[in-house]
Amino acid sequence: MLSLSSNIQYIKGVGEKKAGLFNSLGVFDVDSLLHFYPRKYEDWTNTKTVKETVDGEIVSIKATMITMVKESLVRKGLTLYKCRFSDGESVINVTIFNNKYLANSLRVYNDYILFGRIEKNLATASMSSPQIEGLDACESIHPVYPAKEKLNSRAISKVVKTALDGIDEIPEILSDEIRRKYNLISLDKAIRDIHFPQRQEDIAQARNRLIFDELLTLQLGLLKLKGNKKKETAVKIEVDYSEEFQNLLPFEMTSAQKRAMADCITDMKGRYPMGRLIQGDVGSGKTAVAAGVIYTAVKNGYQTALMAPTEILATQHFESLKKMLSPDGIRVELLTGSVPAKRKREIKADLIDGEIDLLIGTHAIIQNDVEFKNLGLVITDEQHRFGVRQRAALAEKGTSVHTIVMSATPIPRTLGLILYGDLDISIIDELPPGRQEIRTDVVDSRYNERLYKFIRDAVDRGEQCYIVCPAVEENEMDVKSAEQLAEELSETTFKGYNLGLLHGKMKPKQKENVMKSFADGDVQILVATTVVEVGVDVPNATIMVIENAERFGLSQLHQLRGRIGRGSKKSFCVLVSDNKSESSRERLMTMKKYSDGFKIADEDLKVRGPGDFFGQRQHGLPDLKIADMVSDVETLRLTQNCAKDILKDDFNLDKPQNKPLADRITKMFREVYS
Ligand code: ADP
Ligand code: MG
Repeated sequence: MLSLSSNIQYIKGVGEKKAGLFNSLGVFDVDSLLHFYPRKYEDWTNTKTVKETVDGEIVSIKATMITMVKESLVRKGLTLYKCRFSDGESVINVTIFNNKYLANSLRVYNDYILFGRIEKNLATASMSSPQIEGLDACESIHPVYPAKEKLNSRAISKVVKTALDGIDEIPEILSDEIRRKYNLISLDKAIRDIHFPQRQEDIAQARNRLIFDELLTLQLGLLKLKGNKKKETAVKIEVDYSEEFQNLLPFEMTSAQKRAMADCITDMKGRYPMGRLIQGDVGSGKTAVAAGVIYTAVKNGYQTALMAPTEILATQHFESLKKMLSPDGIRVELLTGSVPAKRKREIKADLIDGEIDLLIGTHAIIQNDVEFKNLGLVITDEQHRFGVRQRAALAEKGTSVHTIVMSATPIPRTLGLILYGDLDISIIDELPPGRQEIRTDVVDSRYNERLYKFIRDAVDRGEQCYIVCPAVEENEMDVKSAEQLAEELSETTFKGYNLGLLHGKMKPKQKENVMKSFADGDVQILVATTVVEVGVDVPNATIMVIENAERFGLSQLHQLRGRIGRGSKKSFCVLVSDNKSESSRERLMTMKKYSDGFKIADEDLKVRGPGDFFGQRQHGLPDLKIADMVSDVETLRLTQNCAKDILKDDFNLDKPQNKPLADRITKMFREVYS
């Protein structure tokens, strides 16, 4: 008798060699074999006659073998076996390559099912290396596994069948209550049906159950990993000051902003530390929301911290928040790598004395020697740039402090749910009024002269322009570099205009100066790399030109585009690309089609896959076998709630009924965290 933990070598027909092949597919025991799912299915139930088929179709045909097999050796290592079949009215010429075992098993005048691609011309029909099986095969849907050379799908399927026949009922891992609530079939049925479904509906139900299991395991694992310990918070926010705060603003907050701010303040009045993600498209006004929450925390007597991924962004936050909050007596300070040592020391001393109410900075503020007197709230902006670990490091600066993570769009909703599975989410789904839709165009460089004239006209009207290049310096690739282009343009097309150059290799101080001149309107045209991508706010800039646009990810393009359209003037984004490929063009057209960053992010995710989404696998998610980040978002949401319910009762999953789930988590996360 087999059990789930039996080594696959115990399965009949699996010798050492085959076991080795299975191992290379990540299959070691019966359990992992049963979770090695088919990639797709071939439906053999719908048989056709030759006459009913068209050339090139993949079909199953019921046919009688009418000639003996003729063997011919073409050359060493290639033997052909030829024979003929008849479906009663037409003849099919069948050629089998090298499969002596199959050829020898065929008996003339017996009936078979042939499955494969049929090739037809006027006179004949033929099939090369079809699958050939006895008649009972047409009653079923055949699984197709991600096979390997030397271990084909058919062989895998046979071993799975033997294993399934050899084990008892597969133990259930979910309670009856959960299964009822989420309408799930039993694990035993799901596993058996995912491999050998009788009907198409079986596949759907089995997938539904197994996707649920996989995403539930993922959510449980992540929630536990992030240590969702329900420690009570010592930070007591008693009074909501958001009304007063709104009087400090020169504008009326949008209702989405007010809602997000209210969510946070409600959280902070609770017994447990807030953990909230504020997700809003570029320009949706997340900074004002953060300011409102900061204001309330400070007025209740707590210190606050805001961390941004770049100096420029931190500086910009510092300037705007200082302007907003300091008239009300709130002390705001900036701590970044380029703050002089003496000033740093002063800031740190004042911080520990509790004299600073809001500290803004880059990751410099999570250094060990930065200590607060009574930190109550930490906010990280543009979170996808920080790892989970950095976020935690900042939160550890206080005792069970409240945390907010602010993110612009390029995290698709699905990934957001996974990465921030431990957070509550507020979405700002509304832009401040008066914003104009940005017009986006995709052009090639033949359009340059017109484009440059368009820019000159805008600049002459007093507006400003960004030109973004993928590379900093001259390079091997056929790609525009920012340095080259700035030099070229300043001597030709834009002679007499004030051009600035901004890229990541410049010293922080230099960068800041350039950015400041641009913000002040002195620099009219800014040639830059993607350093301008994040957060910077210059409402007077109305044109964004992106050179070699095909080199950027869609979400990155969206971020870049978010730098314009921030004022009341009509803005234009021009994607320049000489790449002729259809797919590249189609990708860029996505930018023209959508202005909603969520949609763009989802498209991006579809194209690039979650692994690549951040440019590297920094998020450390385990690979999923059956669930799909994009199409299974509903299930993801359900499993998130289900996981929270389970952990609420049994955070450590020590209860006997939760043991199987705990085991699944260990299995899933083993690869990632070993
Ligand atoms: P993001 O969400 O991308 O961080 P910001 O917070 O930088 O957006 O806000 C973008 C711009 O919109 C800023 O200039 C800000 O002052 C302005 N803004 C924010 N909220 C409103 C509002 N409710 N009405 C008008 N302008 C607003
Ligand atoms: Mg921002």
